[in-house]
Amino acid sequence: MKTTSMVRADTRGDMPTPGESRVGNRLHICLGFSCNNNCLFCMEEDREARFQRLSNQTAEDVRRMMTADPDAREVMFTSGEPTLHPQLPEYLEMARDLGFPTVGMITNGRRLSNRAYARKLLESGLNHILISIHGPDAHVHDGLTRTKGSFNQALVGLANLLLLKREYPALKVHTSYVVNKRNYRLFREFFDVMLPFRVDQHVFNVMMPEGRGREFFDNLVIPYSMVAAEFKKFTDALPPEGLNRVFILDIPYCTTVGIKDSARGYVERYFHYEPDSTVLFQDGRTPDQRRPEADAEVYSRKVMSGDKHEYSKVTKTVHDQMVRIKRPECEQCGYNHICRGVFTSYIDRFGWDEFVPVQRKGDK
Ligand code: SF4
Repeated sequence: MKTTSMVRADTRGDMPTPGESRVGNRLHICLGFSCNNNCLFCMEEDREARFQRLSNQTAEDVRRMMTADPDAREVMFTSGEPTLHPQLPEYLEMARDLGFPTVGMITNGRRLSNRAYARKLLESGLNHILISIHGPDAHVHDGLTRTKGSFNQALVGLANLLLLKREYPALKVHTSYVVNKRNYRLFREFFDVMLPFRVDQHVFNVMMPEGRGREFFDNLVIPYSMVAAEFKKFTDALPPEGLNRVFILDIPYCTTVGIKDSARGYVERYFHYEPDSTVLFQDGRTPDQRRPEADAEVYSRKVMSGDKHEYSKVTKTVHDQMVRIKRPECEQCGYNHICRGVFTSYIDRFGWDEFVPVQRKGDK
């Protein structure tokens, strides 16, 4: 490695190595084509396109997704709001019967306020729930979801899950908090409000300027260095049992070197299947047109075809290739091999100054 004035040595001596994803080979199944929240930063801005993509999806398609990759260990139902899909319990049972150790969903939690419904999902095999809660109170959360009552319903959902855990002790409950200009100073308040619910993990996802997030960029996106400074303050003050339960994701490693390694930089890896004609790179070309440049290991075309619907396997890595970039200096960074780069829209607005390559102390 070369050292230049643009390189930041990590003063702790060791190159902090953010761990591999805690998520296994996770399959996301996009299920819902509607949502009962209306989040400002929703990554799916075009609900009509989502409807077009998903409305023809059949139970057989879902089964084929679950059986296409024998290495998949986790399945998460997502996209739109999965609890609004009438066949969710059936799909959960299908996943359980196919032997997935982790059967989960990403939800706004509102329908879990109905305890009978929450119980039905657990009975059907659900054992991992990621609930999106974006603030310590209704003012912040409902303002971001643009849905009055969404915070209170999600908290009733958490209370129901706490009770149901007595019957389903294997259930894991995580929260997901999309970090933005309105809530990045409220980490500790949120953590304290969550304490009675005994949540297993709190994941703080730094907002991605995609979908509606691009539209509201100026209102919601703040520099990563400001997020990192607040998160450091928050985690430095947490007792060890609290620190073990909080993680900040979706933020380049070079901006978080001051944060304890256990709490930062775990990149989630997952893949999903997309109806073939809906996959487009930023330059407007389809993956097939980009095929020679694509990594054969992370993208396989038309994994499910024939007389049924055709789907392409899209991994997080391929998606990142579409929307993130690096600069030549990144070659000198010790995190280059694991870093996915920075959103082009972020760089257009804030520039490269924050992104200083990191090297182990003493590397030349
Ligand atoms: S590779 Fe570039 S963007 Fe990524 S952590 Fe290193 S300096 Fe930052």
